[in-house]
This record gives sequence, structure tokens and C-alpha cells, in this order.
Amino acid sequence: MDTCQSGTADLGVLIKQGAEARVFLSSFVGRKCIIKERFSKKYRHPILDSKLTLKRLNAEARCMTKARRLGVVTPVLYGVDSVHHTLTFEFIEGRSVKDVLLEFGSNGVIEERLYDIATQIGTAIAKLHDGGLVHGDLTTSNMIVKEGTNQVVLIDFGLSFTSTLPEDKAVDLYVLERALLSMHSSCGDVMEKILAAYRKASKQWSATMNKLAQVRQRGRKRTMVG
Ligand code: AMP
Repeated sequence: MDTCQSGTADLGVLIKQGAEARVFLSSFVGRKCIIKERFSKKYRHPILDSKLTLKRLNAEARCMTKARRLGVVTPVLYGVDSVHHTLTFEFIEGRSVKDVLLEFGSNGVIEERLYDIATQIGTAIAKLHDGGLVHGDLTTSNMIVKEGTNQVVLIDFGLSFTSTLPEDKAVDLYVLERALLSMHSSCGDVMEKILAAYRKASKQWSATMNKLAQVRQRGRKRTMVG
């Protein structure tokens, strides 16, 4: 991997190029860190573009900080640079839940570890939702299992928003359910374990679960119509 020069600053090694942001592996006071740079969209008016980019940058920082306050394990936010449109986070050493589950799929499930991971995921989402925060992109790629432990760390609050609506929370869960069904069905019903933990940890689980049933039905109808 090459070191990448971006804007005026040398941000480190590019590890992901997305549609809205670039992610770099770098260092911060001698520690490994992640730098996420939101870049401008050339088709947008420059002033509007800068405003929107800053708005999303600040929203991501606020949502991640709020998640930590709610007791959810996330990387530490080291800094926000509103001039270069970057966020600097603690680097979490480990593998994504996606990779861990794919390994379970091919080498056999370690039931105890799977149960622990699913319970942590369900509990973390319940804390977010009860605190009025919707993650917005709950996939197994956005969860890291910390090396040497079985601790799950939630990342990427780039699409997060505040909401107390059961509908928004149900859609958040539905996105995860679809991702698990399409990619990790060989691990058994992981979502059932996640939802069991969610029910236990959330005070508002009942309204969200009712909505989830409706969201699933809508999803099914859409699939049948094509
Ligand atoms: P994101 O756009 O925030 O999902 O980040 C893109 C990718 O960078 C993720 O899928 C991870 O592989 C990696 N990544 C992001 N944040 C961290 C972090 N704090 N620690 C380790 N890897 C990360």
C-alpha cells in the first residue's frame, strides 16, 4: 500500500476509498490511528458542498461521541479537523465481525463465541436506540472484534442520526438482518440471538419489534413485486 498525499496534508496509508470519504491508516502521537477524510463533490456548488461536508463530518463525530456516552464501545475520537474535513480515531486492532462469521461458516461455528458476539451486538444496538440514536449502517463490516478479546467495537457512524421513532430503529435492525441472512446463513440464526439480547437490554423493545414485523412484511412484498 502506498502512502497517499491528500489535499495539503500527508494522511497516511489509504485503506478504503468510498463515494463520500477516504479512510487512512496513520499515526497520532505515536499510536496507530484511522483518519477519515470527507472529500468534496465536484458536481456540487463549492459553498453548498463545503457546508454539507462539514455538517456530515460534525454529525459523525457527535453521533460517535454520543454512542460512547450511552455505554457503547466505539473507537476513541482523537480529533476533528474542519479545515481538511477529517476525523481522527483510535485504531482498533482486530478482525471485522464479517470475517469472524465467515470463518465460522467455513471452519465450524464456535457456539460460545458466536453467542457472546451476538449478545454484545444486540445489547449495543439497544443502548443506541434507547438513547435515541440510529446507527444507519449496521453491517458486520462495521463491527470489529478486538484482537485478543471477544469485545465487539462499533465503527462508522457516518450515516447515523438521532431519532426516537420505532420505524427508524426497526429499519436499522432490518438492514442488519438482511446482511446476516445474505452473508452468514451458515452460522445459523444469528439475528435471533441478537434480537434476544436486544429485547433484554431495551426498555422500548416492544414498539420496535412490532415495527420490525411490519418492515419485514414490506420487504417481502417488495421482493415479490420485484
Ligand atoms: P468506515 O468507512 O468508517 O466504515 O471505515 C472503512 C474501513 O476502515 C472499515 O471497514 C475498517 O476496516 C477500517 N476502520 C475504520 N475505522 C477503524 C478503526 N477505528 N479501527 C480499525 N479499523 C477501522
